[in-house]
Amino acid sequence: MDRTVTAVTGTEPDRVAVGLPPVVGGRLEVPLVTGRRVTYANLDYAASTPSLTAVQQAVDRLLPWYSSVHRGAGFASAVSTSAYERARETVRSFTGAAPDATVVFTRNTTDALNLLGRALPAGTTVFRFNTDHHAALLAWRGSRVHRLARAATPGDAVVQLAKALADAPKGPRLVVITGASNVTGELWPVADLAEVARIHGARTVLDAAQLAGHRPLDLAGWNVDWVALSGHKMYAPFGAGALVGAADWLDAADPYLAGGGATARVDEEAGGESVAWSGLPHRHEGGSPNVVGVHAMAVACRTLAATGWDTVVRHEQALTARLREGLAAVPGVRVLDLWPDGHPRLGVVSFSLSRLGDAFADQRLVATALSAEHGIGVRDGAFCAHQAVRSLLGDAAGHQGDRALRASIGMGTTSEHVERLLAALEDLVRRGPRWSYDRPEDGWRPVPDPRPLPDLLRGNGNPPVLSE
Ligand code: PMP
Repeated sequence: MDRTVTAVTGTEPDRVAVGLPPVVGGRLEVPLVTGRRVTYANLDYAASTPSLTAVQQAVDRLLPWYSSVHRGAGFASAVSTSAYERARETVRSFTGAAPDATVVFTRNTTDALNLLGRALPAGTTVFRFNTDHHAALLAWRGSRVHRLARAATPGDAVVQLAKALADAPKGPRLVVITGASNVTGELWPVADLAEVARIHGARTVLDAAQLAGHRPLDLAGWNVDWVALSGHKMYAPFGAGALVGAADWLDAADPYLAGGGATARVDEEAGGESVAWSGLPHRHEGGSPNVVGVHAMAVACRTLAATGWDTVVRHEQALTARLREGLAAVPGVRVLDLWPDGHPRLGVVSFSLSRLGDAFADQRLVATALSAEHGIGVRDGAFCAHQAVRSLLGDAAGHQGDRALRASIGMGTTSEHVERLLAALEDLVRRGPRWSYDRPEDGWRPVPDPRPLPDLLRGNGNPPVLSE
């Protein structure tokens, strides 16, 4: 483990000093039930990352110019349209796609995968693993789906896929490849799976929701046809995502959303309208586009590239190694892994506790107590990957159930956040929670809960600005 990095990234200023860009909320203070305030330990990057400060500033600079995209004659419209169209090239280049790849902007990865799902040629068979995220699992409901069982190793995933493709009926095929598991952080063998797919005449789509903000993408090098990604998981939480890749299937499909923008010409005809749909990429971008989100995503791509992947990866790997090492030392903690340790991974670690003091551990109560008593944000549940979590928990003696905890890190994480989590878990396991909690229908809550909401949510916290 690289102790030098963890040693110098204990605080937000230390983190910035090693070349990591600042994030909005890096020094956010949150209240505890005891009345103390502490810096927020955001350990939930796999759900959504904070905004980079550079992204926030870029959005602020764009907003005075904010206007309609592709729809206005004014100068501000030209600026907004230009920001939107320039972002395509930035995002394309960020994914490592070929220069002729199409970039369709979407809301997020789920939207991008569903768009591709609607564009599949008739008779397509889709191959995907049961351990995938629900977005990658369910976006193909109009098609024949070949379900691949949980892979015992990355090599087994490749072998299973090769066998399934060899036995599959003729016709178009699409293989869904997860870049990194949102449950275990493990990296999937993207290039190997894509090669097997290619040998068997299948197309591939990479679910890069987790991967994109943490490792470089190389769509052309991996020989992958499409990639789906989400701005909110790569430091640009402004509601944009993208589907990047081959034009042919997208061009041949009906628009994902019928309406303005997707249409080149509409004429009245007896019994309806005749419609000439737009070409790509506008064909699948019906309605007014999200220029703020798209611009934010492009700035995040540029900031990640300028930071340098070595810096990003070194920071995240050092913290992940410490997190895993620390979790292994907490009594009764079981870390969930798909594969034997030693495979490359992102900073996403799911685990479950067997005991809380002298009681059986309810994972939701652990997450609630981490927030209420320690100012730590983790996720609990099944992480939109129910089959993966159930299967992994089923392996863990004494940990059955369908909920786990997940700690996930990124560029804004410091070693203090990780150490605080480890110390809090140790204390929870040994002594149980130190506050009292009640369990209404929808989970646990501290009783009493004196934590005030911030001003922005209180009463008249946001009075309208009436003069400039
Ligand atoms: N795939 C993976 C691996 C994910 O982690 C997520 C989000 N948790 C998604 C797809 C869906 O992303 P979004 O919610 O941004 O559509």
